[in-house]
Amino acid sequence: MKTLLFHIHTERSSDANLKIPELIDYIVKNKIDYFCVTDHHNFEACRIIEEVLRRKEYKGKTHLIKGIEIKTEYGDVIPCFIKKEIKTRKFAEVVKETKKQKGLLIIPHPFVRHKKIKFLIKHVDGIEVHNASALKFHNKKAQELGARNPSLLKISAVDAHCLNELGNALNEIEIGKNVKINPILCKNGGYFILNLKHLAIHIFKTLESLFAR
Ligand SMILES: [Zn+2]
Ligand SMILES: [Zn+2]
Repeated sequence: MKTLLFHIHTERSSDANLKIPELIDYIVKNKIDYFCVTDHHNFEACRIIEEVLRRKEYKGKTHLIKGIEIKTEYGDVIPCFIKKEIKTRKFAEVVKETKKQKGLLIIPHPFVRHKKIKFLIKHVDGIEVHNASALKFHNKKAQELGARNPSLLKISAVDAHCLNELGNALNEIEIGKNVKINPILCKNGGYFILNLKHLAIHIFKTLESLFAR
């Protein structure tokens, strides 16, 4: 069985402070086979991590799955298993571009600020049935949505923005002709505390960059 840690934000997201060396250290120490980095609207950490993992010391230890969290007109989506950054924010174009790159399109926390979810799921490969930063109520609805749609991939996501949030979720993964994913850990991080913390990081980093000018 291989493990997958899904939906990780690094310090390259405006609301996250997880340092790239800290993340790589965590992944290697905990023997995570695959980890998917999904910063908000940028691919910088994916590029850096890809480069770092080419070093001899990391050979065969773990695999990076490159992803990006994009806020479209219908809500957040995560193209993953992609090669190049996707810059558009239009849902239809994200679908097209993900297919072109032979990636998978996932809807994170499908009941947090999404519109037309019934329409969206027809165009994606999977959904998060658990998100450690979402409300229990929203996760319950996501699980029900997953149960009604057996063909969708179902993923448990950490949605981590800090180092101590990385232990909240885990999946097993099988990468063959098709990708199979099965959630094996679904902890609740605590919606209000986590979201307040992410907002505080965002405000702090914005102020810091203003004063640095
Ligand atoms: Zn965020
Ligand atoms: Zn996220």
